[in-house]
Amino acid sequence: MKKRILVTSALPYVNNVPHLGNLVCVLSADVFTKFLRLKNKKAVSVCGTDEHGTTTETKAIEEGLTPKQITDKYFRIHKKIYEWFGCDFDCFGRTSSKANHETTKDIFFKLHKNNYIKEKELEQAYCVKCERWLADRFIGGICPSCGYEEARGDQCENCGRLLEATELKNPKCRICSSTPEIRKSRHLFIDLPKLTPKLKKWINESQKNWTENAKTMTNAWMKEGLKERCITRSLKWGIKVPLKGYEDKVFYSWFDAPIGYISITRECRKDWKQWWKNPKETTLVQFMGKDNIPFHTILFPAFLIGTGEKYTLLGHMSSNEYLNYESGQFSKSRGIGIFGDDAMETGLPSDVWRYYLMTNRPEKMDSEFSWKDLQAKLNNELVANLGNLVNRTLAYINRFHGSRMPKAALKKDDREFLKKIAKEEKEAEKAMDSIQLKTALKKIMEISRLGNQYFQKKEPWKTKNAACLLVLANLIKDLSILIQPFLPETAKEINRQLGTRQKTWQDLGKPAVKPGHRIMKAAPLFRKIEDREAELLRKKYGGKKKMETFPLDLKVAKITAAENHPNAEKLNVLRIDLGKEQRQIVSGLRDHYTNEELKGKNIVIVSNLKHANFRGVESQGMLMAAEKNGKVILLEAPNSEPGERVRIEGMKNSEKEITIEEFSKIKMATKSKKAVYNGKPLKTGKEEIRADIEDGAEIT
Ligand code: ZN
Ligand code: ZN
Repeated sequence: MKKRILVTSALPYVNNVPHLGNLVCVLSADVFTKFLRLKNKKAVSVCGTDEHGTTTETKAIEEGLTPKQITDKYFRIHKKIYEWFGCDFDCFGRTSSKANHETTKDIFFKLHKNNYIKEKELEQAYCVKCERWLADRFIGGICPSCGYEEARGDQCENCGRLLEATELKNPKCRICSSTPEIRKSRHLFIDLPKLTPKLKKWINESQKNWTENAKTMTNAWMKEGLKERCITRSLKWGIKVPLKGYEDKVFYSWFDAPIGYISITRECRKDWKQWWKNPKETTLVQFMGKDNIPFHTILFPAFLIGTGEKYTLLGHMSSNEYLNYESGQFSKSRGIGIFGDDAMETGLPSDVWRYYLMTNRPEKMDSEFSWKDLQAKLNNELVANLGNLVNRTLAYINRFHGSRMPKAALKKDDREFLKKIAKEEKEAEKAMDSIQLKTALKKIMEISRLGNQYFQKKEPWKTKNAACLLVLANLIKDLSILIQPFLPETAKEINRQLGTRQKTWQDLGKPAVKPGHRIMKAAPLFRKIEDREAELLRKKYGGKKKMETFPLDLKVAKITAAENHPNAEKLNVLRIDLGKEQRQIVSGLRDHYTNEELKGKNIVIVSNLKHANFRGVESQGMLMAAEKNGKVILLEAPNSEPGERVRIEGMKNSEKEITIEEFSKIKMATKSKKAVYNGKPLKTGKEEIRADIEDGAEIT
């Protein structure tokens, strides 16, 4: 690698809390940078959040905030989590910054000037009422294959089919429900076919230092041939396209996201050109997940090459595979897995998580998180190996020699042991240099294991062998250097107990702890977790799914009495039992059920609806019924207990009071005699909610 090393970690998408799978990449970049700093290399590390795109807009609408407020909120969450995990990037920023607007426009203008930008016309849905172009996911309609009425323009959630928005029957704007118009709209494309010869030449020269999965994927893309790619979107949230006629367009987020690396550096360092426009002296090392490979090996380099300027392009890369969660994939949208904030809450130190994630780093294939494995790595490796070596060495020095290191002469086998360690340390360094972080960490733990073996052989508890304790104290000092990139807090604690300051990589093998040196009292570095505790953690955090909120609190209620409303012909008044409470509700069922028929039925009510008054009688909630062609059928849960919650899988009921207007916007329907929301059945712990009526009846 060259004189300067610029390290980036793929910018995590801002609209959610990062999970352990996302953290692997961010942590890897941090570990590698900490290693470079220990070696006194000139290095700068860059990370931040990717903030533009449709998903941010959607999330903002969902949470009732503006895109700016959403990104502010999640930017803080991301920053806090990475800090807790011990990551200290030199520059941490965001792609929505002013600097990124400027850099993106600057790069675009150069691509435009060099004739790498093309214009084309596309057909697109436009909502006149909302005055906006609709991204596919903002269009709803009837699925052409299964007839589901709430299908989205990109995918039908009911049958799972991927769709083109134009295929939907009866398309509607999902924001305001009006029918969108199909209009023609001009978009900008980057001319990748024209850039291909230059790109090919660069890829051939550069890919020797890429991970295997990156080479394979990139070469496959190149072989298939690159196509022109649209770099603009009809959105409001993003970087405005600075061309006449494109006032309603922003850049596609994958265009400005990688440019964010440059902008984030530019914002935090005056000397940013020394790094980004200095390919002679700078090696760019990029960390990412395998899903991000083509953005870093093809698209981002194409933008930079297309400017005609001398940018620092990708040198070494480390693209990891996926870390899965207990035999399934981590999923933000389904809320499966351990999230950064969960890890913070568990009470386990951040170094334990760092150790776990780096020792299970999915370098060549997917790996899997499990609580059992986390417990095993902590107990058998951190406690029994590293922690044990440090603790017993210092404890025996304390016991036999107080706080002062003893005088001792090394023997032949002590020197041989040190030689062996020096060899192992070289190998760990080699692995670190080639960014094989997992291999390096295993090597380092092997060095610690050799220390324990040597301790066993020398039996200092019997022999009070001072030479052995002196050798081991210096080995521990070496370990505090070797593990610092992985376990920064532990390195600090070892130094505190050993009475030393953090040394650099060049101090490996040097006898810094000399006779007469003062050490502190030994204390355990890590705490074991027992089976019971691991199981509790798994229960508390493992099973926890970050659920979406269903705005209604639906409950099963038993009708205990039914009578006619005193002042309204069509209404009746029901007494209902909700297990712990009794309520009264007004309903309009007199044309459909007799009071006798109603009595004793287990029905479903909305319990968080604002109480209302119907002609002098208060209604404390509302019952749910399905209606089609004048036929009305109650939703029933005959086998469930009064008071039991009615839920939708993967969602949690909101207990917040809602108004009748808010309620009327929530669309539920019937399918195969079941009540469904977004294609998913409403159910209690015992049964799915029945509605004995034909498909597509509206539930109110
Ligand atoms: Zn469908
Ligand atoms: Zn609309």
